[in-house]
Amino acid sequence: MLTGLISEITSFSTMDGPGIRTTVFLKGCPLRCKWCSNPETWEKKRALYYIPKKCGGCGKCEAACPRRAIGPRRAYPTRIDRKKCDLCFRCVEVCPCRALKISGREYSVGELLSFLEREKVFYGKEGGVTISGGEPLAQSRFVLEVFKGCRERGISTVLDTSGCGDTDGLTEILRYTDLVLLDLKLMDEKLHKKWTGASNGLILRNAAVAASSVPVRISLPLIRGVNDSEPNLRATAEFAASIGVKNIDIEPLHTLGAGKYRYLGMRSPYGAFLRPEQADLNRAAGVMRSYGLEVSLGRMM
Ligand code: SF4
Ligand code: SF4
Repeated sequence: MLTGLISEITSFSTMDGPGIRTTVFLKGCPLRCKWCSNPETWEKKRALYYIPKKCGGCGKCEAACPRRAIGPRRAYPTRIDRKKCDLCFRCVEVCPCRALKISGREYSVGELLSFLEREKVFYGKEGGVTISGGEPLAQSRFVLEVFKGCRERGISTVLDTSGCGDTDGLTEILRYTDLVLLDLKLMDEKLHKKWTGASNGLILRNAAVAASSVPVRISLPLIRGVNDSEPNLRATAEFAASIGVKNIDIEPLHTLGAGKYRYLGMRSPYGAFLRPEQADLNRAAGVMRSYGLEVSLGRMM
């Protein structure tokens, strides 16, 4: 039975495509964007969240852990040695405060489609299902089968992708996709590698493949000092226009993922980044419009 590893499902989303949508966030991503707001989706496996403010300091997790990865419980909050932890999740079972949580769950295609079908009543004329991540193309077979099932049920489909994935898998998925939201972070290959850990060659090729068969909106996550330079904005606009894209969604950097870094025992990266100001957004929008592109600030569709 084909299953997918899902990080989270958000109902009533209005930011991930037209209308009211259910957004399904999949696990697994080949990129490591330094400002990523979903670090729990990087690995294609479940993760252990520890939420310090909920912890009552009872020590039950320490006693249950077979790997001695928790403690010593000298004082609240609990400490977890992530190198020792093998993700058995026994600590989650015994925690009375729900301070420990599993991030990620397997769904079969049928189980997810049944859930989405129940949500269909909220979609109206414009809404539907968005598959996001992580990188959906890291689980392309699962996405394909879910989108096929959505088509059969008359549910609109949006693929929210970084474009960094297998082109054959993408091409098949596009046959059942109504709209692609594609992130373009940086046009210079060296800078792209520096900030995301990977080349943008495949991403640009996949963007062109997607735009040749379905409507594509480019998402530009705008970060001061990273990708807001005039040359990058112009190169992004030129590329978008060259592949027939008409819409750019400029998304200012946000720090909503900071808590997730804490829950995973990681350092939040956001101290190193500056949020763009309104003047930066207006300047970027002006450049995009000068190439004939329609611009939204944020994904307000
Ligand atoms: S998941 Fe298992 S190994 Fe990891 S801290 Fe919890 S009990 Fe220990
Ligand atoms: S079992 Fe839960 S409440 Fe008790 S110390 Fe561990 S994390 Fe905290």
